[in-house]
Amino acid sequence: MKKLALHWQILLGMLAGVVFALILTNFSWGAEFVNDWIKPFGNIFINALKLIAVPLILASLIKGISDLKDISKLSKMGTRTIGIYIVTTVIAVSIGLVMVNVIKPGSNINQETREDLIASYEGDALNVQSAAQKQKDAGPLQALEDLVPGNIFAAASDNGNMLQVIFFAIFFGIGLILIPEEQSKPVKAFFDGFNEVILKLIDIIMLSAPFGVFALLAALVVESPSPDLFEALAMYALTVILGLAIMIGIYVLMVWIFTKNKPSFFINGISPAQLLAFSTSSSAATLPVTMERVEDHLGVHEEVTSFVLPIGATINMDGTSLYQAVAAVFIAQAFGIDLTIGAQLGIIATATLASIGSAAVPGAGMVMLVIVLAQAGIPEAGLALIFAIDRPLDMCRTTVNVTGDAAVSVMVAKSVNMMGPPNVKTWKKKSENSL
Ligand code: ASP
Repeated sequence: MKKLALHWQILLGMLAGVVFALILTNFSWGAEFVNDWIKPFGNIFINALKLIAVPLILASLIKGISDLKDISKLSKMGTRTIGIYIVTTVIAVSIGLVMVNVIKPGSNINQETREDLIASYEGDALNVQSAAQKQKDAGPLQALEDLVPGNIFAAASDNGNMLQVIFFAIFFGIGLILIPEEQSKPVKAFFDGFNEVILKLIDIIMLSAPFGVFALLAALVVESPSPDLFEALAMYALTVILGLAIMIGIYVLMVWIFTKNKPSFFINGISPAQLLAFSTSSSAATLPVTMERVEDHLGVHEEVTSFVLPIGATINMDGTSLYQAVAAVFIAQAFGIDLTIGAQLGIIATATLASIGSAAVPGAGMVMLVIVLAQAGIPEAGLALIFAIDRPLDMCRTTVNVTGDAAVSVMVAKSVNMMGPPNVKTWKKKSENSL
């Protein structure tokens, strides 16, 4: 029998969890049974995701930065690529923040459910309070001071210090680019391999995802039987999807302005890669198709695609960053935490960095969401709230991630004059003569 695709398995797991818990709530012992015997498996699943957050940043960021070694050779293209990548990511996070603040999907949860939720995560609520107190006592440059760890092992021992780990990874990656190749080669090979291992671990953890979501959803149903929580989840999903749709519109507009080609030129060219991204939830798995479509159907020279797209698949995740911003504020709203403007500006920085550090594989964006939550002082336990709906949203945000990479490569190619007619044979022949 053909194996069911993972996203269907997860959807079934979710459904089974809800049905199972609804049935059990009819018995007096039902809720206790779920809490004692089912919920711990959900917690184990969440812990496994959190467990790999630090190694994931180290591996994927050091690899991503050291892959930029061509930057001296292609410095013009390199600066443009990184510049446009960062600009589109900041635009995406900002759209996410505006959407979630306007729609307020988390505040639909009524007072009683919110109180129930806060009571079940009392420990986290206390942590938040003490973190908030610390922030109040801090000086104006505290955030900058906190960015640089005094000891990398101490920093890596606390998920709340993720920004410090990112700082170390970027610093390390830059050092790796600057040393002679014969010395950097073995270190880079190590991190390439390390990165592969981490990606494999995510694969393994994702195998248990159907059971994890079963447990999480069952616990959620017995703990907060109020239907408004599910309404809120639907509103949250809609907020993310609406934001992602706006982002696609922005890419089409940008490519239109840059190339003067009709929007259908970009959409038709890239749609097979978008569909693959939607069904695999992985920018990395989609990369070969993205490269083929951008080269052959959008007319971008392969020197641009081979530089811009692999880096983009690793560091440019606009869909992921938009989702992280919406998810963080949604969880804060659900817990009744008021985020100040300062905290929201902080989310722009952390979601941009967290999306850069996210691996191009299913579920990675949610792992890295831990950083955004921890840095903004939002309870990490809130991950349990949104996990149920994460896979379908992962499919949608990966589609945006891939579309963003393609759009940026078109813009970079146009700006360095390396774009030909959308017919690879003509363009390749022409460029072979001219280069
Ligand atoms: N699945 C996404 C990607 O591969 C990353 C994420 O989980 O947001 O692009």
